[in-house]
Amino acid sequence: MMRQKIRNKFQELFSTEGSVYASPGRINLIGEHTDYNGGFVFPGAIDKGMIAEIKPNGTGKVRAFSVDLNDYAEFGLNEEDAPKASWARYIFGVCREIIKRGGQIQGFDTVFAGDVPLGAGMSSSAALESTYAFALNDLFSLNIDKFELAKIGQSTEHNYCGVNCGIMDQFASVFGKEGSLIRLDCRSLEYKYFPFHPVGYKLVLLDSVVKHELASSAYNKRRQSCENAAAAIRRNHPEVEFLRDATMDMLNEVKGDISAEDYMRAEYVIEEVQRVLDVCDALEKDDYETVGKKMYETHHGMSKLYEVSCEELDFLNDVAKKCGVTGSRVMGGGFGGCTINLVKEEKYDAFVKEAFESYTAKFGHEPKLYNVVISDGARKLA
Ligand code: ADP
Ligand code: MG
Repeated sequence: MMRQKIRNKFQELFSTEGSVYASPGRINLIGEHTDYNGGFVFPGAIDKGMIAEIKPNGTGKVRAFSVDLNDYAEFGLNEEDAPKASWARYIFGVCREIIKRGGQIQGFDTVFAGDVPLGAGMSSSAALESTYAFALNDLFSLNIDKFELAKIGQSTEHNYCGVNCGIMDQFASVFGKEGSLIRLDCRSLEYKYFPFHPVGYKLVLLDSVVKHELASSAYNKRRQSCENAAAAIRRNHPEVEFLRDATMDMLNEVKGDISAEDYMRAEYVIEEVQRVLDVCDALEKDDYETVGKKMYETHHGMSKLYEVSCEELDFLNDVAKKCGVTGSRVMGGGFGGCTINLVKEEKYDAFVKEAFESYTAKFGHEPKLYNVVISDGARKLA
């Protein structure tokens, strides 16, 4: 469907045929607010993503069409050629970041579309960036390694889209593998694949469709608390660079020296880093019940210790618990967005029905539902 639409439009606009590339959005199973504490995240690519048809046109210009926004943009490849449309800036940014790294590219024609919901926490923007980073690398034989492709996407967000993000989203979109989640060490950038074959379970995102304004000021405060706690611990234990290196014993040694709030924040982070490792162990034993238990613990920690949940997300988490869902937690930074749920197939229908009815009754609007399957990362389709 999506590919046919892209094909038709590309033919109509450019009267020729290009190569086709795809790159996915992502989920993060566990490991929230761990990245800036030097800890682990645990993302996987999903079966929703961006598809682009693309063909070099032998000029210095890019001609791009977004099927979903029904919008066309044309721009050059020099720094001063930045397009106005925000969707086009992602493509322009990727081109610029490649050129800055010495990659020799020329203009191209392209049409793209996607099915990652925008702004729901599945990183449609990373899907867009890695589609073009991967495609241009392949089409112009640039030999850029996969890590650098992810960094090109990240730098695009920083330098052309005003989003100061970490590397997780682009990393997952490029490195994703069907049936695998990827544990990424945010300090060393070492990564390891773990099997994810939840036979008899579904992975379900419930989007609260709210975004509370507090998010960015609260985020900065949380970071400050983590730094305060780490600094206090470091006085006794110089080897503690980040909270990721600390234990609860170390934190308890400085309990009297830091604020109660900083203590709670640090407690959450130290436990969350450990939970990622516990989930990895559980997955190696195909133990999805333990995985689910850890997801609930994360939600509890984010709600009660880190205090980044909100009424809507706590409500969705409670519904999951009541319906016997195996695991459920807020996904992403908090204050809105989705919960991620690991649901036994036989409980799925009743859970979805209850979540929709009770959430709508309480908040006056429906949540949104997305089923996801862990899938491959950036690739060429044709
Ligand atoms: P997310 O959390 O989904 O990454 P962002 O706000 O970071 O949300 O990125 C969304 C932006 O990415 C959109 O505003 C748009 O510019 C671009 N984008 C994402 N998906 C598409 C699409 N299917 N078509 C065109 N642009 C898209
Ligand atoms: Mg984004």
